Amino acid sequence: MAATLLLSPTTNHIPFNPEPTSYIPLLEKCSYTAQVNQIHAQMIKTGLVHQTIPASKLLTALCKTSRSGSTYPLQFFNRIQEPNTFMWNTIIRAFSNSQNPEQSILLYCQMLHNAAPHNPYTFPFLVKACTLEEIQQLHCHIIKSGFASELYTANSLLHAYNKSGCIVSAGWIFDRIPYRDVVSWNSMIDGYAQSSQIEKARRLFDQMQEKNVVSWTSMINGYVVSCLFNEALELFQEMQVRRVEPDKVALACALSACAQLGTLDQGQWIHTYIRRKRIQLDNVLGCVLVDMYAKCGELNEAMAVFKKIEETRSVSLWTAMITGFAVHSQGREALDLFEDMEEKGIRPNEITFTGVLTACSYSGLVEEGISLFEKMVKHYKIRPSIEHYGCIVDLLGRAGLIKEAEVLIAAMPMKPNAAIWGALLTACRIHRDYETGTRVGNTLITLDPNDSGRYINLANIFAARGEWNQAAMVRKMMKERKVSKLPGSSLISLDGKAHEFFAGDRSHPETQKIHVEWSQILGRLEEEGYIPETEDLQLDLEEEEKETSIYCHSEKLAVTFGLIRTEPGSTIRIIKNLRVCRDCHNVSKLISKVYDRKIIMRDRSRYHIFKEGHCSCRDYW
Ligand code: ZN
Ligand code: ZN
Repeated sequence: MAATLLLSPTTNHIPFNPEPTSYIPLLEKCSYTAQVNQIHAQMIKTGLVHQTIPASKLLTALCKTSRSGSTYPLQFFNRIQEPNTFMWNTIIRAFSNSQNPEQSILLYCQMLHNAAPHNPYTFPFLVKACTLEEIQQLHCHIIKSGFASELYTANSLLHAYNKSGCIVSAGWIFDRIPYRDVVSWNSMIDGYAQSSQIEKARRLFDQMQEKNVVSWTSMINGYVVSCLFNEALELFQEMQVRRVEPDKVALACALSACAQLGTLDQGQWIHTYIRRKRIQLDNVLGCVLVDMYAKCGELNEAMAVFKKIEETRSVSLWTAMITGFAVHSQGREALDLFEDMEEKGIRPNEITFTGVLTACSYSGLVEEGISLFEKMVKHYKIRPSIEHYGCIVDLLGRAGLIKEAEVLIAAMPMKPNAAIWGALLTACRIHRDYETGTRVGNTLITLDPNDSGRYINLANIFAARGEWNQAAMVRKMMKERKVSKLPGSSLISLDGKAHEFFAGDRSHPETQKIHVEWSQILGRLEEEGYIPETEDLQLDLEEEEKETSIYCHSEKLAVTFGLIRTEPGSTIRIIKNLRVCRDCHNVSKLISKVYDRKIIMRDRSRYHIFKEGHCSCRDYW
């Protein structure tokens, strides 16, 4: 039997050596169990199988090449007379990576039973196979065996506790590692960052002597998870200053911070960096880039990125692009893309359906939305979530089918939440169905008693019906319950710095200039026939809230500031924390025409792109 049989034709230049031990190095080159089997046969013939070193090499090769769940390695292991620690570790490791990791715990018990000695390499793979409760038990064993302060073992426990959210136990271990390495530090920083203890994470990060790219990435990711997007970007910039090359994860985190802050220039800078460094655009980076461009109001750019990843588009990437179209009120485009996706044989998931149903509701595509909902349930067998129902209630309600929306809510298999009733209430306001509105409004303040918006909506509905006493009572109730109103705020980012304006805000250093400029703008708008739309104002404000009059809405302040500080003809980008009011919507449309500016305004749920006197939402919002 020639040893060359074991090898593929390309590697058969390895000379055949009749010495029995010559098989052993070949084991490391095997990629298939069939090849290992041939050597195994030779080893049985020659009796090598009973020698410790050849046997452990054979076991390693079997574990490496066997498919997950195969019992072959275990059968071989069970025949070894007195397996050494290396062999135990090998078989434990093989099972910890398999579909039945509990087998490695059973093997460990057997190891204890046989009084086989263990070493630091026994535990890390075992830890990986354990549930939290088992980790705690194993931790006791590790302490008793005297390996608790051994770095490799301690790091694996640290990682396991962090992953299970047991941050206190993780911290306990971290404090007791005598010589921590970069893995210990990174693991602990990540643990704190992921469990909303961002200050603790930062303290460790600052104390760390030798940071690597993972340390930076964990910290940036921690800021993103904690919604501290400015801090995330600042750290990302510091990373550049220190000449640490960001990895894909760091780039993705920074891009999602840009998306949240709407800082297009920084997002573009990162995109250029990716191109310059020839970093391959995979689905993860593709998704965040598409999302960033869509959230910065640049759908064409988003589409360009989407098109670049043609071969291997994941469902998440399709979903990101569909959702981008949806929030930009481009319902038809979202539906076309959804069809493309189905044609390519990609199975949509529940998030894809939330995207495409949102697209229908924002664009008033009632029939399409309903038939997609049915398709989701019947064809794709996806059980509708409360978000999916929310989309349909919104879809029906906005289209004026309030009765139908109510019927659907009554038929839902789950209890309707505040979001569902909120969607219906919005519909009642748009279509002036004040009777249903009163009923829904009352339900909402019971369901969500700490949300100021719910009271204001109900008071507005009473006011619209002319029931001023009732309206005042709701206001009083809100005051008595000490529910404070969420102030409207608008963010505009200029030269990499975000400026935030609140309704009636006079704290900005350039407030004087802004108010002078606004009066001039107002003059020009009036010449164009602007009449303040006070419906929302009357409904939204109390008498004494004079200072937050309609002219002081945060988006007007931000747009005015944008007109002062940016070049003529350039785009103004605003992020509003609430829904934009009708008057600010009108004003923005007029400014876009009179001053020839594109204004991209992202409100709580969607985008308004004002251009040449029109809005991309076609006033359907
Ligand atoms: Zn407004
Ligand atoms: Zn709009």
